[in-house]
Amino acid sequence: MQKRILVTGGAGFVGCHLCERLVAQGHQVIAVDNYYTGRRENLTALLGLPNFEALRHDVTFPLYLEVDEIYNLACPASPVHYQRDPVQTTKTSVLGAINMLGMAKRLGIPILQASTSEIYGDPDVHPQVEDYRGLVSISGPRACYDEGKRCAETLFYDYKRRHGVEIRVARIFNTYGPRMNLEDGRVVSNFIVQALRNEPITLYGDGRQTRAFCFVDDLVEGLMRLMNVTQPLDSAVNLGNPVETSMAEIADLIISLTGSRSPIVFRPLPQDDPRQRCPDISKAQELLHWRPKVSLQDGLKRTISYFEGVLSRMQDPVRRVEVARANS
Ligand code: NAD
Ligand code: UDP
Repeated sequence: MQKRILVTGGAGFVGCHLCERLVAQGHQVIAVDNYYTGRRENLTALLGLPNFEALRHDVTFPLYLEVDEIYNLACPASPVHYQRDPVQTTKTSVLGAINMLGMAKRLGIPILQASTSEIYGDPDVHPQVEDYRGLVSISGPRACYDEGKRCAETLFYDYKRRHGVEIRVARIFNTYGPRMNLEDGRVVSNFIVQALRNEPITLYGDGRQTRAFCFVDDLVEGLMRLMNVTQPLDSAVNLGNPVETSMAEIADLIISLTGSRSPIVFRPLPQDDPRQRCPDISKAQELLHWRPKVSLQDGLKRTISYFEGVLSRMQDPVRRVEVARANS
């Protein structure tokens, strides 16, 4: 059945992949975005299609549309970007959730929240299970994002309890892939771009902190399965690839996959940087029959070839020097 689906944050990294999948399934998709970190060029393949529409709008303001489902993804996800305007980050999570939940309540439709592993903070339970309550700083530089997302989740549960809104809450762990912004600032895009330019790889801290990296196609599949669950849900579901990797390991892997000559340089660890993170995805496996399929190696290869294309289209000056040297 064709549905009208609203994707907030639709011009962002995850949002544009999700919009493409939904459009490919024949749905009518509206991407709402204020282009804070998203880009219209992420939607190039969709703009002009009869079943796709892009709408410039800031979710902190009310929005009146008639749709059948909402995926609420609007919010900068990279620490560099969400810390640039922390008050706006909290507003986006909290007011954005209120506005989108209000729409879901008015229309009696399901709504999915893109929550995050950040709600576990710097976890002392490992791997993280959904009923772990987290260890989050209320005052540190990451709090605008972490606490904003926690408050958004609370709003989701209260709208479910008080107003019967059909909610789905995805706690997304680090996701990467093509169409991350060159300037995104997250580790995978930073390391790949640095490696392709043969520039120093900036490893923060001692590199022993861990994350678990999920390829974007796997995540999008998980989000869509979660939206389509038929039984009532009143709690969150972790979505991520439970393969724990240290930042030093990922730096080495990217250097080797790119054949880069980049040295690794150590930089101070940002305040409140979580030491370890890895999802327990038993709930997603049971409920959604989902687990990631793309290995880190394969996902990185696909992301590297995307960034190679971006840099060569930009005629990146460093690459041009490299090519000139290679040809001389
Ligand atoms: P992104 O920054 O690429 O995309 C976020 C999108 O939201 C951008 O297009 C941005 O312009 C838009 N946006 C920001 N504020 C807005 C506002 N006030 N009104 C309308 N649009 C606004 O990030 P992403 O990686 O695509 O993340 C998408 C969602 O998934 C976010 O909610 C993020 O918190 C969540 N998430 C992502 C990851 C990840 O690793 N990618 C991990 C955990 C959670
Ligand atoms: N990181 C790093 N070098 C970079 C960017 C990030 O070593 O150039 C580290 C960062 O300190 C963190 C990990 O990589 O420990 C993941 O950072 P990212 O910003 O991608 O995501 P998050 O910390 O939100 O999980």
